[in-house]
Amino acid sequence: MLDAREVANRVKALQGSVGKSDPADIVSQIETLKKEVAPSEEILRTTKAGILMGKLRQNPNKDIARAATEVVAKWKKAVEQEKAAKKGKASASPAPKPASPAPKPVAAGTKKKFEGDPEKRKFQADGVDVKRTGSSVRDNCIGLIYNGLAYRSTESVDSVLQRAIEVEHAAFKAFNGETKEYKEKIRSLFQNLKVKSNADLGKGVMSGEIVAEKFVQMSSQELMSAEMRKQNALLEEENMKKAQVPMAEKSMSESLECGRCKKRMVAYTQAQTRSADEPMTTFCECMNCRHRWKVSFPPILLSYHTFAPCKAVRAWITDLHFGHVGIILGLCIHVSL
Ligand SMILES: [Zn+2]
Repeated sequence: MLDAREVANRVKALQGSVGKSDPADIVSQIETLKKEVAPSEEILRTTKAGILMGKLRQNPNKDIARAATEVVAKWKKAVEQEKAAKKGKASASPAPKPASPAPKPVAAGTKKKFEGDPEKRKFQADGVDVKRTGSSVRDNCIGLIYNGLAYRSTESVDSVLQRAIEVEHAAFKAFNGETKEYKEKIRSLFQNLKVKSNADLGKGVMSGEIVAEKFVQMSSQELMSAEMRKQNALLEEENMKKAQVPMAEKSMSESLECGRCKKRMVAYTQAQTRSADEPMTTFCECMNCRHRWKVSFPPILLSYHTFAPCKAVRAWITDLHFGHVGIILGLCIHVSL
């Protein structure tokens, strides 16, 4: 086969011969090009072989015209094949090689809706084999995500497993393998999926609205249900209002004792600082010496009779009416404001 430069030379020579040389000689030159040129779109264009051959199809000499027509047909076919091959390659190639071992995908099987009790769905109960990665840690994570996604869902076993595999794989990639962050993320996703009021989260993942790569990057705020977000916003607003209440409108307690002047003239307000299921924070102010502090209780369920650390707090708990139930709160934290 001729290289591009040689083809260009031959094309020039042929062009020079047309109308001057013997038609038989021209036909033989055309035949040579037909045999010796490996036709590609580029070579036919850059050497102008395509244009010349196209013109020669109209040559008054029938032998020349026929020879040229044959060559054009041959080249056209070759160029079309070249284009088709390129296109096939382009559509097959964009899947980048995964940087981590991809788990075995679920074979396209039955997509039958789940018909058992969706409350009790777990991969073990659904008869799902989560051994997909060769690593027991990763397989367990697939199982955990499966349990989260399947909970209260009627999606088919295969669909849920497929999504669980995608989520695990996305987390594996995003958090660089079986790291602490990877395990924490999987656990947090599972917990969020199990929140009853947060059913939209699992549905979003199952429908593909939330793709696995995005799911594993969502913040705890984003994972929360819209309802929970609204509640938290309301609480925050309420706290703002409470903080603005003048001291005169605050409740007074004679059971509370000021840590500084020991007088029992303490005003207090309560506020929930973070979310509804977290303990109250009580803001206190001594009306005598203006000492201010806050008290908050971590949610440790102990009897205050045994564990409340000081007399003032015991009195305070009784005074605020949520202590006498006995569901109290071992440690308390005094913070001076
Ligand atoms: Zn005081």
